[in-house]
Amino acid sequence: MQISLKGKIAVVTGGSRGIGRAIATTLAAAGATVVVNYQRNAAAAEETVAAITAADGAAISMQADVSAAEEVERLFKTVIERYGTVDILVNNAGITRDTLLLRMKEDDFDAVIDTNLRGVYLCTKAALRPMTKARSGRIINITSVVGLIGNAGQSNYAAAKAGIIGFTRAVAREMASRNITVNAVAPGYIETELTAGLGDQVRTAILEAIPLGRLGTPQDVANLVCFLASDAAAYITGQTLTVDGGMVMS
Ligand code: NDP
Repeated sequence: MQISLKGKIAVVTGGSRGIGRAIATTLAAAGATVVVNYQRNAAAAEETVAAITAADGAAISMQADVSAAEEVERLFKTVIERYGTVDILVNNAGITRDTLLLRMKEDDFDAVIDTNLRGVYLCTKAALRPMTKARSGRIINITSVVGLIGNAGQSNYAAAKAGIIGFTRAVAREMASRNITVNAVAPGYIETELTAGLGDQVRTAILEAIPLGRLGTPQDVANLVCFLASDAAAYITGQTLTVDGGMVMS
């Protein structure tokens, strides 16, 4: 089976670094034109765009804070003016503000909910306008195994990521008749800047909980996202698929 996304327009939120960058480059390698969204780090976004264009792909970077309604509005307006539609939306932008609940400030809770959950709501709603018109579309939401099983010190993040799973199921039901699929991908521990800082002891404990015996790579996640974005995944909707080396089995 060969996946081709030729002629498709994809928006990847937080596509400039880490998992989002792997998703952006993989969708572009499959033929999609990719809008690499970022919030602050323009240089990282430009690096991603340069990597894609060096490999003969098509990409552009666009700044917008996904938690701000007017910025999301501007982002999708610009994409539609430039490309006419949005075929694929990957809601990947995410942040952490980890601390135990008893110490968690309201700001820590709100910031994580605003970016990780409100951002998914705002971007999905904006992308659904062109998708419903085209009667076709693919939405892929990046959640986390933490949204399935919880994690001490991450009550804000777990709430947002579990919220994404419910949101995915509800919107999948609402949009199925328009030929728009909505799925969630739940990565486990993935090698990124985030996990690079883990101490040896923590890393050993994590590896013991992973049947496949290694952390995942951004590419492991991007491969599944690319499949879900393709025609080959036309009969899959409302699902949460884990990419975690077998850490969570249900
Ligand atoms: P990174 O911290 O490496 O990258 C985060 C990306 O999101 C950056 O491109 C950043 O842009 C962007 N971003 C952050 N806030 C906003 C915002 N308000 N608006 C627009 N863009 C924003 O994250 P990862 O690659 O590690 O994670 C990507 C996704 O995968 C997240 O949703 C995360 O929760 C999830 N995940 C990650 C796991 C892991 O092990 N790393 C495990 C499970 C899930 P900028 O740099 O410009 O701010």
